[in-house]
Amino acid sequence: MQPFLDGLRQLLGPADLLTDPADMAPYLTDWRRMFSGPALAILRPGSTEQVSAAVGLCAQHGVAIVPQGGNTGLAGGATPLGRAPQVVLSLARMTAIGTPDPIGMVIEAQAGCILQRVKEVAADCGRQLPISLAAEGSATVGGVIATNAGGVNVLRYGMARDFVLGLEVVLPDGTVVKGLKPLRKDNAGFDWKHLFIGSEGAFGIVTAAVLRLTPATRHRSVALLSVQDLPAATRLLGLFQDRIGETLSAFELISADAIRLVETQCGLGAPVSGGNWFLLVEAASSLDGLPAAVQATLEAAYEAGLLQDGTLAASEQQAQSLWALRKHVTEAESRCGKSLKHDVSLPLRRMGAFLESIQARLAGLAPAARLNIFGHLGDGNLHVNVVLGDTPLSIASRITGMVHDLVAEAGGSISAEHGLGQYRLADWQRLTPKTERDLAIDIKRAMDPKGLMNPGKAVPGTSHRQ
Ligand SMILES: Cc1cc2nc3c(=O)[nH]c(=O)nc-3n(C[C@H](O)[C@H](O)[C@H](O)COP(=O)(O)OP(=O)(O)OC[C@H]3O[C@@H](n4cnc5c(N)ncnc54)[C@H](O)[C@@H]3O)c2cc1C
Repeated sequence: MQPFLDGLRQLLGPADLLTDPADMAPYLTDWRRMFSGPALAILRPGSTEQVSAAVGLCAQHGVAIVPQGGNTGLAGGATPLGRAPQVVLSLARMTAIGTPDPIGMVIEAQAGCILQRVKEVAADCGRQLPISLAAEGSATVGGVIATNAGGVNVLRYGMARDFVLGLEVVLPDGTVVKGLKPLRKDNAGFDWKHLFIGSEGAFGIVTAAVLRLTPATRHRSVALLSVQDLPAATRLLGLFQDRIGETLSAFELISADAIRLVETQCGLGAPVSGGNWFLLVEAASSLDGLPAAVQATLEAAYEAGLLQDGTLAASEQQAQSLWALRKHVTEAESRCGKSLKHDVSLPLRRMGAFLESIQARLAGLAPAARLNIFGHLGDGNLHVNVVLGDTPLSIASRITGMVHDLVAEAGGSISAEHGLGQYRLADWQRLTPKTERDLAIDIKRAMDPKGLMNPGKAVPGTSHRQ
């Protein structure tokens, strides 16, 4: 491998080819410290041309590539897996942002740009990029596109896929495909960029994108509400949709247990009590009547007997403190030791029975474990996490298998937004019809015949095709 590494050093310079174990360590373990794996080196190219040349060298030497952005992914997709020679290719140095076009409402950014920074640049010209995640201060444009990230505003604006107008990618042989047109409408043939969005680096490397912006909203109303049960929560969602649906930008569910966790682990206090479930509801508009419309909707909800308690933020500062409760749920959970993350979506009408089944089965399988449930109820997406406590790690896969089996029975998805990575691939294979699996493998074979792009993540290896 020495000629390979020498070639890379010549290409990238010694500062951007890391081979010292201490320098490599942060790139070889994921954010949750659940996955880690070896690599020959960490590559830090600074341009699309360098990515292309580095990928070409890897193809020539049969070395696999793990693309990495901010390393905030929750499925182990950016962490090396297995024994095959591989490198991590970090996009972190590619951070150029083009001047936004506020009338055409587009912005171009390189893959390594931090999402929050792109949002700030868009905001400076009076527009917004409403992809909103708790990890937005570290997640990158490339990672967000490669995972088709969701977040709290999907209800109104859609997933990352809905923002990508143009894409530049480097294929597994090093070829650069430059599709950076800022067009909203382009039906001139097959729209290949969708192959890369959500493919978790299994088909190629995203190096830049043109993203769609939306008008900024001048008013927002944020409320924290408590309800007795899930049927009340879904009826409340229906009421909001009926009355102010086009302004509804978030409808987040947090269990009372999760709120208690945030209070005890992060020192925050919820100004609302009562009920088994909390809802963080946000509406936004540029029209002046929004606060009155939200207030009237809340009064109707009280009259219909749907609410236990609630508060409507009276200032932007109060709105931010209500959001802080929601944003700290993941951190509060991580302070309680190891947990298993399940990122599921299912039809709203089946959620109640699904959660009851999980509760019953978990009590039998792992009595020391506790459920931590929150998520994007408006999108039918729940994070059904299991805080393990004293539960032995050896039964982790049985617990996850049980949750995923119940999701499949309810006609849901085992990954609403976090992707398969290495964490969910085996369960996806187990629960997905053969025709669908074979289609994924055939596309992988066509895109990456040598199987060098992020092996063991997102798509089964070609040997699984029977
Ligand atoms: C606290 C917290 C909250 C989160 N909340 C949400 C949420 O609400 N919704 C949500 O969807 N996700 C959420 N996530 C998950 C994560 O932030 C997203 O998946 C994010 O999109 C990952 O971006 P990244 O740059 O960190 O990618 P990485 O973690 O570096 O990589 C993720 C995957 O994309 C691939 N990849 C990265 N960059 C590229 C590239 N340029 N080209 C090709 N492939 C690439 C990697 O190989 C890997 O498979 C959260 C994570 C944390 C830690």
